[in-house]
Amino acid sequence: MSRAMHRFNLLISLIIAVSIASCSTSPTGRPQLILKSDAELEAQAAATFNAYRSTLPLTTNRAKIDFVACVAQAVVAELNPPYSDIEWELAIFEQNQINAFAMPGGKIGVYTGILEVAENEHQLAAVIGHEIAHVTAKHVNERASRGSLTGIGIEALAVIMGGGYTGGAYTASQALSAGAALGLQLPMSRGQESEADVVGLEYMAKAGFDPRAAVDLWQNMSAQGGKKPPEHLSTHPASDTRIENLISQWQKTLPIYNQAIADGKEPNCKKTWD
Ligand SMILES: [Zn+2]
Repeated sequence: MSRAMHRFNLLISLIIAVSIASCSTSPTGRPQLILKSDAELEAQAAATFNAYRSTLPLTTNRAKIDFVACVAQAVVAELNPPYSDIEWELAIFEQNQINAFAMPGGKIGVYTGILEVAENEHQLAAVIGHEIAHVTAKHVNERASRGSLTGIGIEALAVIMGGGYTGGAYTASQALSAGAALGLQLPMSRGQESEADVVGLEYMAKAGFDPRAAVDLWQNMSAQGGKKPPEHLSTHPASDTRIENLISQWQKTLPIYNQAIADGKEPNCKKTWD
């Protein structure tokens, strides 16, 4: 191919890249670079979620399933359109990892390890509210856009999937490319983290979970540091100011919580195991 032809091709791909990129604004007014369409991202999320479900063992502990489903349902019920119109899917992985995630298109993944850190339904609601907020505030799209620019992700995900698993319908390498396309292993930024905290607190409070519990959760999470810090902290870096930011939101979110309780929204989700 001639050099001129190369240049022409490059120009075409640049035009395509520019035309699909859109600059929007996040819930708290941050400018966002969105390179992927919702449809593209949701398709990648569905593939990744399926890959996870077939490569990681799902818990069979009924009490844990009921507890997580109860909290997740209550939080999801408070979302706005279009997120309230989605059929949300939940997978609870029997894994010691302290981790949880949410994906575009309505996917929630919870690792049983995080149930040791989230001491009650309020703290778990803080986790789930936070993760869902990363989706509704389009952070997952921002991160995926960043991932597609930098091309990182595959190697990190390889460590998590560990290779070698052959029992599922999906191979580890399919899971890898699906996860990499989503930028799944890229950390969220500090701005995205505090935004997910703010939005997540609102979701949990609306559902009748005490927003003050988010402080306990993140304190528990930090206390797990040391030799092997929670996986969740590697993709959700906790800043020193996180606790202060969470407390600063009480003024706004406690009235929402009190109203929810007054409206009879007190989800009866209890830990029934030791
Ligand atoms: Zn986060």
